[in-house]
Amino acid sequence: MVSMDKITTKNLSVYFKEVQALKDITLSIKENEILGIIGPSSSGKSTFLRCINRLNDKNTGFKKEGTVNIEETDIYQNIDVEALRKKVGMVFALPVALPMTIYENVTYGPRRHGIKEKSRLDEIVEKTLRDAYLWDEVKDRLNSSGTDLSGGQQQRMALARTLAVEPDIILYDEPCSGLDPISTAKIEEAMKKFKSQYTQILVTNNTKQAARVSDRTAFFLMGELIEVDDTHKIFTRPKDERTNGYISGRFG
Ligand code: ADP
Ligand code: MG
Repeated sequence: MVSMDKITTKNLSVYFKEVQALKDITLSIKENEILGIIGPSSSGKSTFLRCINRLNDKNTGFKKEGTVNIEETDIYQNIDVEALRKKVGMVFALPVALPMTIYENVTYGPRRHGIKEKSRLDEIVEKTLRDAYLWDEVKDRLNSSGTDLSGGQQQRMALARTLAVEPDIILYDEPCSGLDPISTAKIEEAMKKFKSQYTQILVTNNTKQAARVSDRTAFFLMGELIEVDDTHKIFTRPKDERTNGYISGRFG
């Protein structure tokens, strides 16, 4: 099977005022792969992810050079940012449960996009909660508050909420930091299951997680892409000594 490039950055540099957060990143993410991004803190991982749904645009002093394409479209040209964010879903480190019921949390996006029919919304709730491995734990209390769930459950609810608007790319920014091992395992299972359907980028400060889940892994350091390769290669015979140092825990 020939896999197509879904997301391509060319010579992408990002500045926040005088701080350069990304340095000349040229990287392609293939359709239906999971790309892991690892690297110590402040290496530009979140900035890179946030470039793909234009979440940096409003930060003070944001400036970018180079291009970010999704398929053929340069997403920094005249495009509908709302439509972009529907296509490119994001799961953040801290789960954000809205102060409403579980049902309302999951249907928030679809309702905003005009879906009103109860039967259709019911369907979306069941499908996405099943996909996020949360359905069995909450099916009898869909009308209780989302904020009452445990952190790990809230993160899976946040994932269901992302799925509910039918994205085709999902970005995860340290989605399991601070979660219990069972929720972490369920989220990793979900990501693997999603491979047939979505293109995914997983930023993680847990190198073992990247090793478990990603098809390819990119190592970022101080705003630079040091190397990107098949996950197995990155973790067994990386080309760059700095990658080796990081994965073997010599710094980070
Ligand atoms: P990581 O996710 O790898 O920890 P980030 O992408 O968050 O790294 O940050 C990369 C660099 O950009 C850091 O030096 C950080 O301080 C800086 N940075 C990120 N976001 C902003 C912002 N909104 N304003 C100013 N500097 C920022
Ligand atoms: Mg970050």
